Amino acid sequence: MAVPKRRHSKSRSRKRRSQYYNELKAPQLMECNNCGHPKVMHRACPECGYYRGRQVVEVPEEIY
Ligand SMILES: [Zn+2]
Repeated sequence: MAVPKRRHSKSRSRKRRSQYYNELKAPQLMECNNCGHPKVMHRACPECGYYRGRQVVEVPEEIY
């Protein structure tokens, strides 16, 4: 297998990463389609447990 002969410079790595910098930031948030609660995209809603129009997880009741 080919092996890199020289280490990339910081500049080179940073130039590459600048192209997808947005993806490295905090996960995107969206409003739940069911309850409107802000939630992380591609994850079930923590408020109602819904994802893609149906309930996929039970919402744990708060325990104190
Ligand atoms: Zn919800």
